[in-house]
Amino acid sequence: MKKHNFSAGPCILPQEVLKKASESVVDFNGLGLSLVEISHRSKEFVEVMETARALALELLGLEGKGYKALFLQGGASMEFLMIAYNLLETKAGYLNTGTWSDKSIKEAKLFGEVIEVGSSKDENFKYIPKGYAIPSGLDYLHLTSNNTIFGTQMKKFPTADAPLVCDMSSDIFSRQMDFTQFDLIYAGAQKNMGPAGTTLVVVKEDILGKVSRQIPSMLDYKVHIGKDSMFNTPAVFPVYVSMLTMQWLKDMGGIAAMEEINEKKSRLLYSEIDLSPVFQGYANKEDRSHMNATFNITDEKLKEEFDSMLKEAGINGLNGHRSVGGYRASMYNALSLESVGVLVDVMSEMERKG
Ligand code: PMP
Repeated sequence: MKKHNFSAGPCILPQEVLKKASESVVDFNGLGLSLVEISHRSKEFVEVMETARALALELLGLEGKGYKALFLQGGASMEFLMIAYNLLETKAGYLNTGTWSDKSIKEAKLFGEVIEVGSSKDENFKYIPKGYAIPSGLDYLHLTSNNTIFGTQMKKFPTADAPLVCDMSSDIFSRQMDFTQFDLIYAGAQKNMGPAGTTLVVVKEDILGKVSRQIPSMLDYKVHIGKDSMFNTPAVFPVYVSMLTMQWLKDMGGIAAMEEINEKKSRLLYSEIDLSPVFQGYANKEDRSHMNATFNITDEKLKEEFDSMLKEAGINGLNGHRSVGGYRASMYNALSLESVGVLVDVMSEMERKG
């Protein structure tokens, strides 16, 4: 039986994507060869890469607006340092909203001054800081749109007289917004896009080439742009699966349609969390994430029973991150409303028993 997969990442991908991807490993598009045994310079793979790059810009509404899409390696964590390497000349601003922003700050400090414009560390990242001042003269301002571990999500984005850089690893393609407000967007594939192994970077070309330091080729966005994201052998399988997922998303009606389903899913789960005395939400209500819902069970004695009920219902990946504890339900694009319904039914059943 297929499980209801609430894993935080790597995580659920659309079944039809997985089926097509698995076929491609044996025989790619009837070539008599596997996708993973053909040259990345073959016309077949170059087409995959070009389609994936074009789809990313199309879905975000960024084609023809001076942006380039790249599929790089090293995970979102590599971008923590590439961003600073390529953009940080003197000082950069960072909004500290969780473990991942904290890690990006650590890397940036190796390259220049980092100004933490705001932080919610004081309350273990339960909320998104607001009303903070942004100094002028920053090389860029770095934000994390969705905090995977703590279950908070930025609903409004600040404006600054500096390029805006945003880590969208855990909510890319999940909600509509004006993406032109950002100058660099990055996301590890392994949430809403594909298997781990590639990272989408969408960068406005005119923000590059402004730092005085020399940048090693593999870490230089301009080098990757100059080689159409093929400076070295790309992660062929993750890029292909990402392409299939983006095609699936487009066929579903794009980000607008996805957002509608995602809102239904999170509304269903949060209303159960709020109504039930057995469960308590972790993140501040106004900052709650539509992707990762964090909550605790109020009576620890019920935990064992609840865990076995989850198992019985075929629910996977609901354990909270070790730094928060409790539970975390990740409801990425490919998770169905039905799966959230199954979880909510188990929670109501627990409430009746508790
Ligand atoms: N940023 C966010 C928001 C994340 O959720 C994660 C991983 N879960 C990362 C960065 C790090 O990604 P990676 O493991 O691909 O380096």
